[in-house]
Amino acid sequence: MNMEKIYKNSELNKSKPNKLEWQLIQNEMKRKLGSEVYESWLKKINFIEEFNSYILISVPTRFIRDWITSRYLDQILQIVKLFKKDLIRIEFKILEKNKNLDDQNNNDFSLKKSENISFLKDSLLQYNRVDHNKRFENFVTGSSNKLAYEASLKVTENFSQYNPLYIYGGVGIGKTHLLNSIGFELKKIKKVMFIPAERFMYQFIKSIKANDMVKFKEYFRNTDVLLIDDIQFMNGKEAMQEEFFHTFNALLEKGSQIIVSADRPPNKLSRIQERIKSRFSGGLVVDIQKPDLELRRNIIEKKINELNKLYKDKIEISKEIKDFISREVSNSIRELIGAINRLISFSRIYNKLPNLPETKVILKDLLNINENKVTIDLIQTLVCKFFKISKNEMLSPRRSRYLVRPRQTAIYLTKILTPKSLPEIGREFSNRDHTTIIHSVKTIERLKENDKDMAENINRLKNQILYNTRENEI
Ligand code: ADP
Ligand code: MG
Repeated sequence: MNMEKIYKNSELNKSKPNKLEWQLIQNEMKRKLGSEVYESWLKKINFIEEFNSYILISVPTRFIRDWITSRYLDQILQIVKLFKKDLIRIEFKILEKNKNLDDQNNNDFSLKKSENISFLKDSLLQYNRVDHNKRFENFVTGSSNKLAYEASLKVTENFSQYNPLYIYGGVGIGKTHLLNSIGFELKKIKKVMFIPAERFMYQFIKSIKANDMVKFKEYFRNTDVLLIDDIQFMNGKEAMQEEFFHTFNALLEKGSQIIVSADRPPNKLSRIQERIKSRFSGGLVVDIQKPDLELRRNIIEKKINELNKLYKDKIEISKEIKDFISREVSNSIRELIGAINRLISFSRIYNKLPNLPETKVILKDLLNINENKVTIDLIQTLVCKFFKISKNEMLSPRRSRYLVRPRQTAIYLTKILTPKSLPEIGREFSNRDHTTIIHSVKTIERLKENDKDMAENINRLKNQILYNTRENEI
């Protein structure tokens, strides 16, 4: 490389506008999401590279990635957006080496023989953490979850009476909260092991690779209470199921308590051995239903109270808005709480209470009513604007190259964003035949696979259609 080139490159780098300062973003994440969440999860994120509309970050494991994406991605996206306006998405890479070991100390599950512990200490202890914010005291009960709540409480009072206890239900309705509550209580007097099933598998595989099965077994079989979250993800190979089954039996035999959560009843678990399922069914099986209106209302009240305790000035959300949320955000308690968090954050940032239209915008992605809002007309308008063609051209029979792609794109987006059938879509695009519609959809799907720019454009358009209606501009 000659000097001139080097010089130019460094000039280029210098003039690159607004390079992302990850440290600032991290500070902001810590501030907004709290140091507990930050220390446990977000600190593990490493920044890799910045692109026009997205950034690439890395985390050490798939588990952490899944955890972060399911719980915090939305908020992280908002935070990074403060520093990078054009951000549309965040991509993750799994890089095992940036392990972060310093939060072991916070853990009250201590292994006595600390001299010989290799990765078990490094990784397992990190995950064996009971979340102190999820306790029985702040679990709001209603008809949908009372049984599960009471069974969980019983387990902490009458050790090993219901064994195993199997709690199942949909996403975001309190399973993990109950498991945590049990862990929190029992930890005071027993040795507790709390692990997501996915983590159990990961650890198992790692132990085999490292020739460390003895430690693995010892570790699990030593516990008085084994809480396994989301057992539906336990879909490992025979050897692992074998190990799990034996661990399970060994624990039951020595009188340890086992608590399992899942998204479905035992007999519906796929890829899990029959005998394990039947073991699950042999204990107490309770389900949690979707929250009814009354429970949703109570949770809203409780959450607002809780959040208001953190600040001097209280925020009073109007009855109209509370009614609206309790009606519209009905599937999951996680989303319900997320909705409240967003409204309260909005109030604090803009120093005013959101009115109903603003609420609808803030909560757009959480509201059930939104699904029908995307119209073919909106899609056509935005796609035409994007490709700088007129609607007449798009709907015309002309097959010029510069019209075909946009037309196919609009058809594709209509297919994925609306519930319309192929013939219906055909009618909206100047009575095109449904085979043309299929062809368009397939073409774009293929292009998306092979052409990164194309994929990005489509993604951008999709976001525009979903989020960029006029009322969105707060
Ligand atoms: P799941 O494990 O069923 O997907 P979680 O237990 O993670 O759901 O619950 C999602 C969120 O909702 C958590 O923040 C949890 O604390 C909260 N939550 C769930 N159920 C209740 C409840 N009955 N009372 C208070 N908070 C709840
Ligand atoms: Mg859960």
